[in-house]
Amino acid sequence: MSPLTLDSPVTAIDSQLARRRTGFRTKGPPAHEVLAEGLGIRNVGQLLRHYPRRYIDRSATVPIGELRFRQGQDVTVIGRVRSVQQRATRRGQRMVTVKVSDGTGALDLVFFNQPWTASMYRTGIELAVSGRAALYQRRLQLQKQEVEILRGDDAETVHTGRITPVHRATEGITTRTIRELVYRALQRLGPLPEPVPSEIVAAEALSDEDAALRDIHFPDDEAARRRAVDRLKFDELFALELGVAYRKHRVEHAARGIAHLVDGELTNRFLAALPFELTGAQVRAMKEIGEDMAQAKPMNRLLQGDVGSGKTVVALSAALAAVQSGHQATIMAPTEVLAGQHYRTVQSLLTAVGGADVLSTPGPRDAAAQVSMLDEHVGQEPESPAVTFALLTAVTTGKDRERVLQGIASGEVDLVVGTHALVQEGVEFGDLTLAVIDEQHRFGVHQRVILKEKGAHPDVLIMTATPIPRTLALTYYGDLDVSVLDEMPAGRSPPATTVARTPAQRSQAYALVREEVQAGRQAFVVCAAIDEGNRLEVRAAEKEAERLQAQVFPDLRIALLHGRMRPADKERVMESFRAGEHDVLISTTVIEVGVDVPNATVMLVENAERFGLAQLHQLRGRIGRGSHRSHCVLFDESGPDNDDARARLAAMVRTSDGFELADEDLRLRGEGTLFDIKQSGLPDLKLARLADDAELVRRARTRAFAVIDADPGLGRSPELLELLRQTFTGEAIEWLFHS
Ligand code: ADP
Ligand code: MG
Repeated sequence: MSPLTLDSPVTAIDSQLARRRTGFRTKGPPAHEVLAEGLGIRNVGQLLRHYPRRYIDRSATVPIGELRFRQGQDVTVIGRVRSVQQRATRRGQRMVTVKVSDGTGALDLVFFNQPWTASMYRTGIELAVSGRAALYQRRLQLQKQEVEILRGDDAETVHTGRITPVHRATEGITTRTIRELVYRALQRLGPLPEPVPSEIVAAEALSDEDAALRDIHFPDDEAARRRAVDRLKFDELFALELGVAYRKHRVEHAARGIAHLVDGELTNRFLAALPFELTGAQVRAMKEIGEDMAQAKPMNRLLQGDVGSGKTVVALSAALAAVQSGHQATIMAPTEVLAGQHYRTVQSLLTAVGGADVLSTPGPRDAAAQVSMLDEHVGQEPESPAVTFALLTAVTTGKDRERVLQGIASGEVDLVVGTHALVQEGVEFGDLTLAVIDEQHRFGVHQRVILKEKGAHPDVLIMTATPIPRTLALTYYGDLDVSVLDEMPAGRSPPATTVARTPAQRSQAYALVREEVQAGRQAFVVCAAIDEGNRLEVRAAEKEAERLQAQVFPDLRIALLHGRMRPADKERVMESFRAGEHDVLISTTVIEVGVDVPNATVMLVENAERFGLAQLHQLRGRIGRGSHRSHCVLFDESGPDNDDARARLAAMVRTSDGFELADEDLRLRGEGTLFDIKQSGLPDLKLARLADDAELVRRARTRAFAVIDADPGLGRSPELLELLRQTFTGEAIEWLFHS
């Protein structure tokens, strides 16, 4: 046999085994094809990185006779098949019952509509069954059972060692075949190569790579397994952070940016005219942004700040730096409503410094006339606004739209506020040098790429209100510099939050709404249309609005807002609510982000158990934005055994600190769900958890950045460049090497 390497195809391990058609399937494609198609495993290296999902520790199995005492626990039993019965149920399903016993008792495995199980689990073979012990109709069962054939035709110690790995399998291949392939591959491979530079292995006192890759599949004991996991986690994080460092360096040095004048007349007048005192955090963030913008390299900065922390003012001062340097800026929001809101902030804050909307200024032809007038009255400038701004969304149509587009292209418009979509499609900027993107995480890292093509190399400021735990931010936004607004404007108090479960509590909540409205305040009621595209969910919100109007608040002025409304209608409803024409706004989660109505002091959230923590926090951020005390009531319709929901709601009651909640969210759900990692364009982590492995992340990051510092293009380390190529695949490649 020729020597096996990590690049060898899976068929080179054992061609007979790799071509085996597994399980009950006698037709289907051979194992190696299933591995490639179903699990993306084509070569030996990829097979070895397909780590076990769990292990069956035979020394820790439970006798079947003891299961009754273990209800609710996750256990594994091992026994032999005594009988296999097939029958049709009354509902016409086909049911296979496999009776397994181990001498201390018997257990029934029941399969519905999986007739092949009858031929797979034949009498006499030995099975390991894992699951949660429970009584169902007075019979012992293992819920969510996972069954594994321990000894088939070719009994071998691979499968019956003390700790047996269970790899994720897929249709057409069993975990047993995968395990055999891994075992033979490890037998035939020489010492496995070290992916991390040896100086780092030594400095970090990492355990041996070869041992780790072997032990993670076939550990002798728990200690060996844990050592292996720690070591392989470092590999994963090192590769990820190396990519982050590589990109960050490349982006910063790829192009020259514009050196802006940051300390100019316009920004100074703007700051002097602000109707409030900036928070210390705002001052700090402005300074950091100013330092970036003053340099001739492109800014890539993330402005992180909890809802209500005052990001818009910071963004605006950055925009004015671009304007006073003779260039253009844009502020983009993810929704019409938010774009409209940013626009109003711009309008109110810029009017004070002589700004005007382009639509209220003379058109281009008039402008030409002005020029000739200028010739005649030298020294007497006509009133031209210090800053010209414009709003561009789907609602901007007809002549207005033409005028705005033309003004953006000619450079007449200094600052454009709009939605992301519009900036992507067919909008030409005369001279864009600063782009502010609000709530970027909803759109993924790639948004930035598209945007950059709009300007030469505009400075980019990304704003997010979703507090991202530091370890996550460092990695997923790791190519950005970060400014944090960790201080609320003075005079705000966090909303008092309660959970309502009983009818009496519901009545109290309604009474609260009434009291506040009588005191001149307003209220939000949020209905759980989590999927705005879902007609049924939106319908539910409409029904709720009707019910509240008819039965609960017949005397109050109620408005409805949902995601299926036309943008112009949404905007109109928001506008009239903001103007105080409605007392209660019933809405789906379209109000989630950014909406600013300081007079609203109550928020009721229906079916709060259906929302994630990040979303609940965003929702609650809509209140507590004025000087009045505010209240949030979370209705919990989940049963008593929805532990996760209870934990989330309890966290909401406990704290209103976004970073604390984000950490809690990570703990409860794992980072994959906080925002879409796939969408972020970065590679998945198999073993490491950014939430739990903060210390390891930090170590790997420091080392990776040092490597890039010393050798930015990795020209002296082709093997590390290769490591990046293998780690960053698909979309992530784009992120790493292009754009
Ligand atoms: P967010 O960070 O959620 O985007 P905004 O920028 O919308 O917050 O600011 C929320 C509200 O607070 C706005 O009405 C804004 O004008 C106001 N605001 C911003 N900074 C301050 C401050 N330093 N003091 C008082 N009010 C402020
Ligand atoms: Mg905002």
